[in-house]
Amino acid sequence: MKPPAFAYHAPRSMDEALDLLDQLGGDAKVLAGGQSLVPLLNMRLVAPAALVDIRHLAALDELTVTDGAVQVGARVTHRRLEQDADAAAALPLLGDTLRLVAHPVIRNRGTSVGSVVHADPAAELPAVVALLDAELEIRSTAGTRTVAGTDVFEGPLESALRPGELATAVRFPVRPPRTGDAVEELARRHGDYALAGVIARVTLDDDARVASARAAFFGVGPLPAVVALDALVGQPADALATDDAVAAARDALDPDDDIHATAAYRRHLAGVLLERALGRAAVHARTDLEVPA
Ligand SMILES: Cc1cc2nc3c(=O)[nH]c(=O)nc-3n(C[C@H](O)[C@H](O)[C@H](O)COP(=O)(O)OP(=O)(O)OC[C@H]3O[C@@H](n4cnc5c(N)ncnc54)[C@H](O)[C@@H]3O)c2cc1C
Repeated sequence: MKPPAFAYHAPRSMDEALDLLDQLGGDAKVLAGGQSLVPLLNMRLVAPAALVDIRHLAALDELTVTDGAVQVGARVTHRRLEQDADAAAALPLLGDTLRLVAHPVIRNRGTSVGSVVHADPAAELPAVVALLDAELEIRSTAGTRTVAGTDVFEGPLESALRPGELATAVRFPVRPPRTGDAVEELARRHGDYALAGVIARVTLDDDARVASARAAFFGVGPLPAVVALDALVGQPADALATDDAVAAARDALDPDDDIHATAAYRRHLAGVLLERALGRAAVHARTDLEVPA
């Protein structure tokens, strides 16, 4: 299929881009990696009058680890973030999660900020943003604003971005001490969107007992779902009893039936994946406890 006709703009500066987006308002879509937008155009599920391509905005290429955060500019591809050594040291979860996103050829073009703005509830990165309360930085001719964590996601394929706005970066907080993360998902084929997935985070106290635990689920509801796992607090990290936490998480989830799986199957799967992820996250947190800073 071919896309409907659209005007194409490739601004050379940030001011030019923001002016264009301001003038075009709801008639325009930002084009980043095109890995979600181009299929939607080709299937004629969206028909913007104009595309604003951000390919020339070099300022958006920044990928830095500063002030306790991994800051990822809107031109940074999944693949570049996945392979960045500083980001991996500061937050290993990023690489672990990105390796589950599609295939390398798609990660070579798709951007991490684009994935967050696209707000697909089956996608991995929105769950990371929600779990870690990462920040999305947004610019327009009116100035800069920052949207926190779960507030980024308003519905399936619906983010907090408004017409005329450009998402410029996402900031992930670095991993705190005594903390382990783990991601688990089940997809029919490697590289496909997951039927269900979960990212678990466990933080320990000095005695290797759970100080806090939570998880974010993807593919099991209209939004990334963050669930606090209070049943684990106080438990020894080397002998977690996860049944109550898993049951509470299953109760909190609200998946839909669709052609790929029933809601009941997704809820069950989410619990199985959570149990696995919690075990691995606790091991990572204990390892962190044993290694002097
Ligand atoms: C075959 C296939 C399999 C895939 N599998 C997965 C998967 O398993 N997991 C997964 O998470 N993703 C998957 N994806 C999607 C992929 O990760 C996309 O790259 C990503 O979702 C969107 O990033 P993009 O840079 O390509 O954005 P684009 O496609 O360019 O844009 C997507 C949307 O976000 C908006 N947008 C993008 N950047 C900005 C910005 N800076 N400011 C304002 N608006 C912006 C666009 O206007 C558009 O509405 C898959 C894609 C394909 C084609």
